Amino acid sequence: MNVIIDRSACVSCGACWNTCPELFDQNPCDLFSQVVEEYRFSGDRAEGVVPDVLLQCAWEAADLCPVQIIQIA
Ligand code: SF4
Repeated sequence: MNVIIDRSACVSCGACWNTCPELFDQNPCDLFSQVVEEYRFSGDRAEGVVPDVLLQCAWEAADLCPVQIIQIA
């Protein structure tokens, strides 16, 4: 499964990186959510691969996002 974050709409609430810190963290420059470096596609901080062991927390993070900008597909 893959993850895509529509970073431009992030409100930096922290729900995703608090729920699933192995997959999401906060970019120190723009303060928006990003995919952790280990799981990114080609260095794109908005897209990555979700390993099976992190699928559950990835879904939880997507559900909790108040602006619903995390897609897992
Ligand atoms: S839960 Fe959504 S709005 Fe909150 S930091 Fe993560 S991506 Fe941004």
